[in-house]
Amino acid sequence: MAFNDGLRARQQAHEAGLPYISDGALSKALTEAKQSPAQAWLGEVSAVVLQQALADLNVAYRNFFKSMTGKHKGRNIAPPRFRSRKDNRQAIRFTSNARFKVLDNGRLRLPKIGDVEVVWSRPLPCAASSVTVIADAAGRYLVSFVVDVDTKPLPPRDSDVGIDLGLVHFVVLSNGTKVASPRFLRRAAHKLRKAQQNLARKTKGSNNRKKARRAVAKAHARVADTRRDWLHKLSTTIIRDNQAVYLEDLCVAGLGRTRMAKSVYDAGWAMFVNMLEYKAARAGCTLAKVDRFFPSTRTCSACGRLGEKLPLSVREWVCPCGVSHDRDINAALNVRAAGRADLNDRGAQVRPVVMLAQRGEAVIHPDAVCYTRSVEGISVL
Ligand SMILES: [Zn+2]
Repeated sequence: MAFNDGLRARQQAHEAGLPYISDGALSKALTEAKQSPAQAWLGEVSAVVLQQALADLNVAYRNFFKSMTGKHKGRNIAPPRFRSRKDNRQAIRFTSNARFKVLDNGRLRLPKIGDVEVVWSRPLPCAASSVTVIADAAGRYLVSFVVDVDTKPLPPRDSDVGIDLGLVHFVVLSNGTKVASPRFLRRAAHKLRKAQQNLARKTKGSNNRKKARRAVAKAHARVADTRRDWLHKLSTTIIRDNQAVYLEDLCVAGLGRTRMAKSVYDAGWAMFVNMLEYKAARAGCTLAKVDRFFPSTRTCSACGRLGEKLPLSVREWVCPCGVSHDRDINAALNVRAAGRADLNDRGAQVRPVVMLAQRGEAVIHPDAVCYTRSVEGISVL
């Protein structure tokens, strides 16, 4: 594997006290290695894919160096590690240099692989600059394209909304809408749990265990796909209907909600927020995170008074000012108020983005798992 070969060469140079091997030198070494009989198989893999692996390695190193010198924001980054063939997900990327092509008959032509039948989840909006083929743990092949999309602002709307990421509901909006996690998602999650229990009962190393593991991976993929579809619909609706969207910053919100880690919705939130972010940017809509901690649940959204701490079981309460509150809607109203205030201070921050094709827009190979995605609409909205 080119990634591992390059990493090994650099590690050995480092241990021997030699200088860091430059990107160019590494690439040259790889080209020479292809000529040696032992590594001749490298020649059978598209050269661009190999170069891509090296490019990934270079980026990994650069991020690591930046992190060491403090130039990289965020958490510290570990040095690159060897990639394993046993990884559940395997991926290769082709850039446009690799001359991949989407054919008129809907097939995808990949260098050294051939024409591949593709089930398209949606048409490509324009020519793609790269394509990644992923084999996931459920044995499916997914194709994901990177496309540059012009941001298409929606006409200005005058509504804004605060979102409370709830425990009982998935989200509660300041306009009074409560969005529960849909039944089909709970059903899929239930099936996943069953499959996991079944796996736990199988003897290690047995064929039945292998089968059970495959079943878990399939159930997992199904939950993930279903959830992603649903989150796409929800996030699209929210962005379409509102000029500004406010939500609590999850890291900060987490401070007040330690139980949240155990929430079944946990996995969905980061993805949901991410979808809101890129869809907002694309639609020219403002998305602001309220990044300071405030007790959104027990502050009265009408008079601003701070009430007593509320146990989770209390869903409604009455403020001394006389206004009665639904716990979650009140929280969402407070998020909206805080978001509006922040926005007045900072001014709107809307930036155009280069869009990475989201994983939800990847495509499933027909030979792989076939199931129809029944998606219940989010009728509450
Ligand atoms: Zn009040």
